[in-house]
Amino acid sequence: MKYDFLIVGSGLFGATFAYKAKKAGKSCLVIDKRPHLGGNVYCENIEGINVHKYGAHIFHTSNKEVWDFVNSIVKFNRYTNCPMANYKDKLYNLPFNMNTFYQMWGVTTPEQAQAKIEEQKAEAIASLNGKELSNLEEQALTLVGKDIFEKLIKDYTEKQWGRSCKDLPAFIIKRLPVRFVFDNNYFNDTYQGIPIGGYNKLIDGLLDGIECKTNLDFFNSEYIDWQKFADSLVYTGAIDEYFGNSLGKLDWRTVSFKTRVESIPNYQGNAVVNYTSHEQPYTRVIEHKHFEMFGQAVYECQKTVVSEEYSLEYKEGLEPYYPVNNDRNNILAEQYRKLAEQEKNVIFGGRLAEYKYYDMAPIIETVLSLTNQLFDK
Ligand SMILES: Cc1cc2nc3c(=O)[nH]c(=O)nc-3n(C[C@H](O)[C@H](O)[C@H](O)COP(=O)(O)OP(=O)(O)OC[C@H]3O[C@@H](n4cnc5c(N)ncnc54)[C@H](O)[C@@H]3O)c2cc1C
Repeated sequence: MKYDFLIVGSGLFGATFAYKAKKAGKSCLVIDKRPHLGGNVYCENIEGINVHKYGAHIFHTSNKEVWDFVNSIVKFNRYTNCPMANYKDKLYNLPFNMNTFYQMWGVTTPEQAQAKIEEQKAEAIASLNGKELSNLEEQALTLVGKDIFEKLIKDYTEKQWGRSCKDLPAFIIKRLPVRFVFDNNYFNDTYQGIPIGGYNKLIDGLLDGIECKTNLDFFNSEYIDWQKFADSLVYTGAIDEYFGNSLGKLDWRTVSFKTRVESIPNYQGNAVVNYTSHEQPYTRVIEHKHFEMFGQAVYECQKTVVSEEYSLEYKEGLEPYYPVNNDRNNILAEQYRKLAEQEKNVIFGGRLAEYKYYDMAPIIETVLSLTNQLFDK
């Protein structure tokens, strides 16, 4: 039997595509080289807690179609992302808002906070002496002033990029939004949450009734001759790998996680705490239970699981997470995209095949629009 689609990769792109194709009466086979389905949203159950194995994932969108779609597969909880920052053992609310300014300067009104920021921005602009902004440090100082930059941006950004803010280009930070209201909700989107029961429920729902094979690398399997097995290929792996890295390898940044179980029910009282000083080598600590357990439920589960996140340069064997959008990689990715356009009956999609950072909701939006066109809604 020949499938309509062979889908390489069971992440949100592949799984959503398979779901929509099946609804349209098409047959699909999904393969994934990892030992599990779900790509980067996969969670591992440790001590009854869903642990985000490939980094904390918070679903957020203002697109009602996308929100209704995911909620038709699994209902979402009311998790609202309100990260904290820890700088030398002092805690600050994020994103920068009136709570942060109160903690930073003791100011209690928006007018006082605005005046403080304006004063520090003016100092930064004056110290440029008319010279153009030449790096990220100068850019950030002119946007928010010295205190916020030094306590909440500088070391964190240096840990993320592995370089001094003085050596990073200014364009990395275009805007630094500040809110003069007491609002710790990180996202501005209308909808956010975590699937009730975890992300695996979303993936299981999308892939329900679809044939899937794990531990199977497309390039080291019989499916490399995909035309024997399917009419079309949906490829969500790395674009350079598809073309045998013939033009060169694309660069990535990655994150490594040190995960441990703590024998207490509540370790840091919040899902996300950013460590914004060099005193800690990690950028964030995630306490996974707070994504899905609220109130008394936190204490009904006796243990907790925490992950420290370390930002790293990508090496073979690590997970490619974030594209490095410098000139070299942008040009190379564009050359690969040109090659991809020439492939017959192959759809390249998702973060690896497009060499693009995508949040989850835009991935789903892209697949819904693509499948609506393909299957003629
Ligand atoms: C650290 C981190 C945190 C994130 N946090 C958020 C967040 O909070 N909110 C949000 O909206 N988004 C977040 N994202 C983005 C989110 O992870 C992506 O939008 C989503 O995972 C993309 O889905 P995908 O299907 O394109 O890729 P993936 O999930 O990576 O799936 C691709 C799949 O293809 C498989 N594959 C690759 N090559 C082969 C091959 N040769 N053979 C077989 N299988 C192959 C891989 O094993 C993988 O399972 C985050 C991303 C990262 C990196």
